[in-house]
Amino acid sequence: MSYQRILVAIDLTEECHAVVARAQAIAGEGAIVRLIHVIEPMAMAFGGDVPMDLSLLQQQQFEQARARLDRFVDQYPSLTTERCHLTYGQPRQEVHRMAAEQDCELIVVGSHGRHGLALLLGSTANDILHGAPCDVLAVRLKPDN
Ligand code: AMP
Repeated sequence: MSYQRILVAIDLTEECHAVVARAQAIAGEGAIVRLIHVIEPMAMAFGGDVPMDLSLLQQQQFEQARARLDRFVDQYPSLTTERCHLTYGQPRQEVHRMAAEQDCELIVVGSHGRHGLALLLGSTANDILHGAPCDVLAVRLKPDN
């Protein structure tokens, strides 16, 4: 049985094209492939406690991410805008939420296969794997040094 509803998590880096390519390669005939990019709110990046109004910066962050996502998606004629999701939050939570909401059977994510100190800092792929509502495929990317 091949996968019919696939969600690809992308961080909008060039290496994510390999992740999308793998998802498309294993997608069954007529399968729906969706992309999701999660914007991490600035307050979260700064530890949740910032004594200033970040709303304007966040709006700019969102617009920049939208433009980057549009440019990324332009390279895939089979992917329509309504199948490319941009959300705010924590990648693990948002990817799981979207996968459940869209009844996806597979989440595809890139993995750097980190080791040493980088491993201690954690990886998004590992984070997404835990508690996922469906299968997860981690596509091996070039290891970090
Ligand atoms: P990382 O562990 O941060 O190097 O990311 C590994 C993979 O997690 C990427 O190749 C993406 O598939 C996914 N990922 C990382 N950050 C995000 C994000 N903000 N939104 C969606 N997916 C992400």
